[in-house]
Amino acid sequence: MVIGKLYLVATPIGNLEDITYRAVRVLKEAGLIACEDTRHTRGLLDHYGIDRPTISYHEHNETGRTPDLIARLKGGQSIAVVSDAGTPLISDPGYRLVNQALAEGIEVVPIPGPSAILAALTASGLPTDAFHFGGFLPAKTSQRRKTLEAVREFDCSLVFYETPHRILEALEDVAAVLGERPIVLTRELTKMHEEFLRGTAAEVLERLRERPSIKGEMTLVIGKPVAAIASGISIPDAVNALIAGGMPRMDAMKTVARERGLSKREVYAALEKSY
Ligand code: SAM
Repeated sequence: MVIGKLYLVATPIGNLEDITYRAVRVLKEAGLIACEDTRHTRGLLDHYGIDRPTISYHEHNETGRTPDLIARLKGGQSIAVVSDAGTPLISDPGYRLVNQALAEGIEVVPIPGPSAILAALTASGLPTDAFHFGGFLPAKTSQRRKTLEAVREFDCSLVFYETPHRILEALEDVAAVLGERPIVLTRELTKMHEEFLRGTAAEVLERLRERPSIKGEMTLVIGKPVAAIASGISIPDAVNALIAGGMPRMDAMKTVARERGLSKREVYAALEKSY
């Protein structure tokens, strides 16, 4: 008996054009599509002309449903896992199923595509050489501060998911725990009202507070500690990373000069050479 394969299929995070040819083919050929919300996914499948059966698979029925899905795979059915948006298993259900499938000798096949993490990080202008993804920040201030304290010294960018109703409190804690470093709050990526708010946490907080309401899907990218930005990379990259984080050009040059024990003239000369 040939056993089925388990496909992990990334779907759009907003813009319906963001799906791969391979994802559409795999979904068209799947014996069953396991999804968080069958009505939501049905809308997506209709858009691509895919008419395959769906089954709900979400955080509340994951434990109970996993044995059923494993039995179907062993019986020869191929199953595609999708989430409401982006890449399954990334702050979304699927881990238990993948873990169990591998233990049972079932082949697991990733079908890569959109994820808010990389969309936010790559367009943030903050260092992409290394990053820490921390999922959703905790809802309670004390826990959130502990989480931020634990990553404060990491020499890399930090990426977190956040919700509109918690973003103000979260940014207050980012300002208190992580201080002056550059951040980029990305909102509604790939959608009509896509937005990037750049600055320090305190500056972004001030701009959000001026709004009558705060809405949309949000991913927060936080730059390295300023000292790390200024020492680990070339002078032009260090200056540009601070500018991308919302710092005025002259201030960015002064900061890099101070951190490296250089004169402003030397930083300026390094920048001139790079053009
Ligand atoms: N699996 C998804 C992925 O790969 O991106 C993430 C799922 S998680 C439950 C949902 C969170 O992802 C949202 O609360 C938001 O923080 C982030 N997110 C999803 N879509 C987004 C978008 N279009 N713009 C910004 N952030 C987004």
